[in-house]
Amino acid sequence: MGIDIGSDDIARAAAAMTQLDSCPACAGTIFRDAFTDNDLTRLSQLPDALRRSDYRLCCSCMLVFAAWRQVPEAAVAYYDLFPDLEHRHYAVYPPPDEYRANKARVAQWIVGELETAGALRDNQRVLHIRSDCGSLGPALRDRYPGTTVVGQDYFDSNVRFANEAGNVDARLLKPTGAELLEDSAFDIVVINHMFTHALDPRSDLDIYLKMLKPDGTIFTYNEIDFYEALRFGGRHFRTKPVNNYHKQLFTPRSLQRFFAAAGLEMTGAGRRRNTLSACLKHNPAVWVKPAGQDELDDMTRRLDAWLEMRSSFKGKVVSWSPVRAVLKAIASPPPVLPS
Ligand SMILES: [Zn+2]
Repeated sequence: MGIDIGSDDIARAAAAMTQLDSCPACAGTIFRDAFTDNDLTRLSQLPDALRRSDYRLCCSCMLVFAAWRQVPEAAVAYYDLFPDLEHRHYAVYPPPDEYRANKARVAQWIVGELETAGALRDNQRVLHIRSDCGSLGPALRDRYPGTTVVGQDYFDSNVRFANEAGNVDARLLKPTGAELLEDSAFDIVVINHMFTHALDPRSDLDIYLKMLKPDGTIFTYNEIDFYEALRFGGRHFRTKPVNNYHKQLFTPRSLQRFFAAAGLEMTGAGRRRNTLSACLKHNPAVWVKPAGQDELDDMTRRLDAWLEMRSSFKGKVVSWSPVRAVLKAIASPPPVLPS
């Protein structure tokens, strides 16, 4: 496959796994098996343990999650493999121009969403988890010059660039999980794609909440490409297997339930490409309708149809147009996005 997976030792260390016996979002214990494979399944040079995920559907909160996942001690080796396994080659110094331009656009979008939510004032302290090359710093200070931005990122190259350019006060993020920073008490915590990837999303959310002021705002954006795949015929419909780094395959509704369980209310939601964003504020009275039989039946039907499509195309890239006609015939309206 032309993939350099580093040393066998790294791959072996990344393959130290555990089997979850409860939902990582709601702690529910009633599941349905969804599918076992991931995007590494066909890479026979990798340890077998990496090549399955045992995705399950939680019947309580409707999250599809990888029941078979890395133990925390495996996280560093696992993310050492990330650039090669997932073809992310931006972890170089200096970060490529195109990468920086793209992240600058994302930062403008984040500022716009926070502005719309009424969350921005001058002299705030902002924490950006997975802060890329520090793009959010200049974007915020452009409007609010007194803003302090602390960033954390997985890649040395990004941390070095962000600090040298004076973009943000950047630190290295360990892939093991969220870390409590000593100089906490942030007005805004921006959390980039963490809940899809987290090995223990509830524990991570608890730590983020400890760093947030009581009246602070969380802004988070997470991939929902799997949800898009389940929407049949949506822009991101695909027959490809799921990215093995995606341990929680949230839908808008399951994401909303996950936050509500921590006393967080979604005060705004938006879309950018295949991410769903949400503004969150503390609200002890927040309530989200529990999943009923209708929702379980709907998710099960969508999963079955997606698996059926995948097996009929055997993972090959297909031409969409003839497929769309079939899909339209079996499609039903997507679940309504939380407002
Ligand atoms: Zn659940």
